[in-house]
Amino acid sequence: MAKPGSAGLVFGASGRRRPSAAAFAVPVFITGLLVWALLSRPDRFLWIYPAFGSLFLWFSWSGEKEVKYIFLFLVTFAGLVLPKFAPGGDSLAVMGATLAELLGLWLLFFFLSGVERSRQSALEGLAAREAEAAARIKNLKDELARYRLHRDSALASIRDKGALAASVQEMGAASTPDEIKERLESVLGKYFPGAAVELHSGAPRDFVEKWVAERKFPLLVRNSQEDSRFARGLFGPGERSLMALPLHLFGSLVGFVRASAPEPDRFKGEDLRGAEIFCALAGVSMENIYLFEKVRELAIKDGLTGLYTHRAMQARLEEEILRSARTKVPFTVIMADIDHFKAYNDTFGHQAGDEVLKAVAGVFSAGVRDIDFVARYGGEEVAVILTGVAKEAARAVAEQLRRNLETREFNFNGARSGVTASFGVAEFPAEGAIASQLIRAADERLFRAKQGGRNRVVHE
Ligand code: GH3
Ligand code: MG
Ligand code: MG
Repeated sequence: MAKPGSAGLVFGASGRRRPSAAAFAVPVFITGLLVWALLSRPDRFLWIYPAFGSLFLWFSWSGEKEVKYIFLFLVTFAGLVLPKFAPGGDSLAVMGATLAELLGLWLLFFFLSGVERSRQSALEGLAAREAEAAARIKNLKDELARYRLHRDSALASIRDKGALAASVQEMGAASTPDEIKERLESVLGKYFPGAAVELHSGAPRDFVEKWVAERKFPLLVRNSQEDSRFARGLFGPGERSLMALPLHLFGSLVGFVRASAPEPDRFKGEDLRGAEIFCALAGVSMENIYLFEKVRELAIKDGLTGLYTHRAMQARLEEEILRSARTKVPFTVIMADIDHFKAYNDTFGHQAGDEVLKAVAGVFSAGVRDIDFVARYGGEEVAVILTGVAKEAARAVAEQLRRNLETREFNFNGARSGVTASFGVAEFPAEGAIASQLIRAADERLFRAKQGGRNRVVHE
């Protein structure tokens, strides 16, 4: 026997269930069986009728609503009509019993319908909750995907910021422009793994660098074979993707940074912006080094003569004293003062006096070794420290300087004139155990040289 109701229904094209021929065939068959059973045993009517009625309900139960009502109608019809064929079927007792059975079947029908309805609504409720849960799962999955995307981009941005901070530190710690260039190359190499990174200073070497120099703008070529700005075949095979950036120092173009890769679309807009930041950072770091050197030089070098300052001389003197005390090798100090310098100023003007000072400084610098130290001690006074040189040799150096100056010709507005200086020489540690003593000793001899007629060296 078929599973009740299951074989009797099929799905229509629209998806709506509709009763099939089998759904009607079974009850029609049962009805036939009922008629036959009643006709052959009409005396058993009150037993047979409810049995068949229940059978109807059973078979029609999981069918469509219309089918159930048709069955109910048939059962009712059978209950009203069939007793007529039963012996004594028109008696009040049989009619009453039949009506009671009929009522029982109706009550059973509505009871089962109620149960079915609540089962259906429970099923529908479950399905709705399932759909709701599925929608929520989908929302959560979408949210998770968005979160992952956000997390990845946040991680990438943290990584970028970390790289930026590290390179700021790295470049900030560099002490020479060459070091900065090296670090910039290494930072870009790390930032664009697999790409060829190159940095060079000087004039543009090829069409790419000319493009950047003319526009003062970084260049990004995503795919050199499809870039309409450049003729095809200009780029090498390793330059399918390319970035070229200018390097600036105090607003002037001083070089180029280039990154290239053999595959297309290796660099994006944000890569170019990142590289721009690194290049700007390198430029600023180089400017800092340059300014730092300049400030340091200003502090230790005299602006007019280029000689070391009085202050730098004091520091050097302390160093020499320590070194000499350690090595037991003496050193000497020469103090020199231009003779009658006031007269040059008065005769030829202050500017001409400045020129004399510069020339004298040149004579002194050229007349000593690189390891010696020449300072502008005062207005027109020059001090020299001769490292590891004892007094006798120092006197000879001073004498040579004096002669070099004496023999040099100066031209003041067409008038020729000579410049001379007086010298005092003193040795450490024999004639001064501390810096001030040593300077005083040399100064005192310089004073005696002046008194002795000028243009001479006094060392005793
Ligand atoms: P003396 O032979 O005794 O040394 O005579 P002097 O005229 O050189 O005398 P003194 O050393 O006392 O004078 C120094 C002069 O040097 C005074 C000042 O006008 C001049 N002078 C100092 N510094 C500068 C400078 O930077 N430029 C110029 N042009 N002159 C200076
Ligand atoms: Mg003087
Ligand atoms: Mg003087």
